Amino acid sequence: MKLCMFDDHRLGVIEGNAVIDVSSVLTAIDPARYPYPRQDMLIMQLQRLSPAIATAMEGATRHDLASVRLLSPVANPGKLVAAPVNYQAHLDEAIADTETFSRANVRKIHETGLFLKATSSMIGASAPIVISLPDRRTDHEIELVAIIGRAARNVRAADALDYVAGYTIGLDITIRGPEERSLRKSLDSYSVVGPWMVTADEVDDPHNLDLALDVNGDPRQRANTRDLIMNVPELIEFASRFYTLEPGDLLFTGTPEGVGPIVPGDTITASISGIGSMSMAVTA
Ligand code: MN
Repeated sequence: MKLCMFDDHRLGVIEGNAVIDVSSVLTAIDPARYPYPRQDMLIMQLQRLSPAIATAMEGATRHDLASVRLLSPVANPGKLVAAPVNYQAHLDEAIADTETFSRANVRKIHETGLFLKATSSMIGASAPIVISLPDRRTDHEIELVAIIGRAARNVRAADALDYVAGYTIGLDITIRGPEERSLRKSLDSYSVVGPWMVTADEVDDPHNLDLALDVNGDPRQRANTRDLIMNVPELIEFASRFYTLEPGDLLFTGTPEGVGPIVPGDTITASISGIGSMSMAVTA
């Protein structure tokens, strides 16, 4: 199932070019009281709600996909966990370009570890990427994003895919330079998540997905998730040794080669096979 959040946080099922409004299901989510949970209540209860979503589709209002405003498919992730350099060809391009890539940041993921992006940086597919510091080089990074479905702590890689609720596309927008990643990658609008999520049961192999990113129609990134250095289960094993992963947490798995600058006026098109495609405006 392809699920989206649209307009004023309505829940939709994507079917071809239609968005089927199944928002009535959201009333079945347990009401939360202060202090509100840090995890995403919809993702946490998604398995339980799946039959109700299927029922709600019958006779539901259908919208043209082009007419809705797509938000992040996960409304309230507690954290955005991200893998730095996690494709060998991207590591190689970073090593080769000493002017753009700060030496301290160009090491293998096993040495660098993971980093966090601020949840306030997250936008959906219909919002623009707003370049805040035009004097700094700002790059696109397309990434497969795994959506955590249930609490994971010290999970073994062999079991890790049981903890994934689904997948989506992430853009890890990045200022190049020497500062900490959490500073350079967490500006408002610098974590694009969308256009929707695909539930894990519909992704046969997360390690055989084609990634493609174009800027103004020019191909920039072309890769396949089979070339991940640390794959999705290994990333979950690694991350869950340090953090308890909670329902709705987003795991950005790292970008392949071909990263490059974006400037206001650009249009980014990002797609991952089996998930979908989204076009984003870049503004000042
Ligand atoms: Mn990245």
